[in-house]
Amino acid sequence: MGNFDLLKAKGVSRRDFMKLVAATTAALGLPELFVPQAASALEQALKKPPVIWLEGMDCTGCTESAIATLNPSPAELVLDMLSIRYHETIMAGSGQTSEEAYQSALKENFVLIVEGACPAKEEYDRFCMVGGKPFRTTLIEAARKAQAIIAIGSCASEGAGIPGACASGAVGVGEILRTAGISTPLINLPCCPVKPTTLIGTIVYYLTYHKAPPLDSQNRPLAFYGTLLHDNCPRRGHFENGEFLTDWNDPLQKQYCLMLKGCKGPQTYTDCAQVWWNDNANFCINAGSPCSGCSEKSFYKEFSPLYAKQEMFKLPGIGQINADTVGAVIGGAAAVGLGAHLIATAASGRLSSKDHDRKEDM
Ligand code: SF4
Repeated sequence: MGNFDLLKAKGVSRRDFMKLVAATTAALGLPELFVPQAASALEQALKKPPVIWLEGMDCTGCTESAIATLNPSPAELVLDMLSIRYHETIMAGSGQTSEEAYQSALKENFVLIVEGACPAKEEYDRFCMVGGKPFRTTLIEAARKAQAIIAIGSCASEGAGIPGACASGAVGVGEILRTAGISTPLINLPCCPVKPTTLIGTIVYYLTYHKAPPLDSQNRPLAFYGTLLHDNCPRRGHFENGEFLTDWNDPLQKQYCLMLKGCKGPQTYTDCAQVWWNDNANFCINAGSPCSGCSEKSFYKEFSPLYAKQEMFKLPGIGQINADTVGAVIGGAAAVGLGAHLIATAASGRLSSKDHDRKEDM
């Protein structure tokens, strides 16, 4: 069966396929010129490059997120095309059969996807055993042999997410690679959970160019993590006006800036304001929840409690500001005038990506 016959059999037309490729290349910020190259890379992907998908200390949310997209289903396209040889949650096999599938994929030129954090050292290994083996041992074994590693979600990325904030000695994949002296290229795709578009876009880039996309200092693709959420926030106008939500029950404040409710948008690099979850159904701030900063390595340990007012705000370009002072000066009636305007304008002029380090291509 030819590659496109395979897609047709799955109800995916060439038109749908090309639309997906065009959307993905656009999301990556690549010119239209690259669409045929990306399409050809995906066609090649139909030959099923193997993927080993490991899960450590996690909630399976990234898997849920990746397979929760609608038609034309990028998950179906990519998951089928990539031939996931081993995935504890979605694979049909179990026990010895799945172990054999894992061992057989290890012998190939595979891409390793890691979901979930990992115990940092032997003394914590008991917190994450899979198939009677410490997850850390499996991760190190697979990481040494993989052609590239994609760490998905906040837990597997540098911040290690919620498990990393607990007494379980959990760290992200990067830390395991560093301590084990493994130099396999690592791409971090944080967020809790990862968005399917981020995962698919990264895979398409990797298949097209055979290397990681341009990354920042936290190994995140700049295409998806290159802008401050605060710069694109739908509530930004209220921030500029000094209108901060202080009472959840006041309907007049419903759309106000959530900074005094713990919003981490000014410290968080992500495309969440432009690309939403669940087929663009919604994202946190639009649903009335402050940003918890889940794409940053400071999540969850340093950014919690998530919904409580932070005593000190760090505003890029301005520095540390006391929350009560901001509330009194910007949120107060008198301050909606000149004082607030000056502070907000100064902030808006400086809350840019200038402090967002870029890393050389891998
Ligand atoms: Fe939006 Fe949060 Fe910035 Fe307010 S502080 S404008 S809610 S990102």
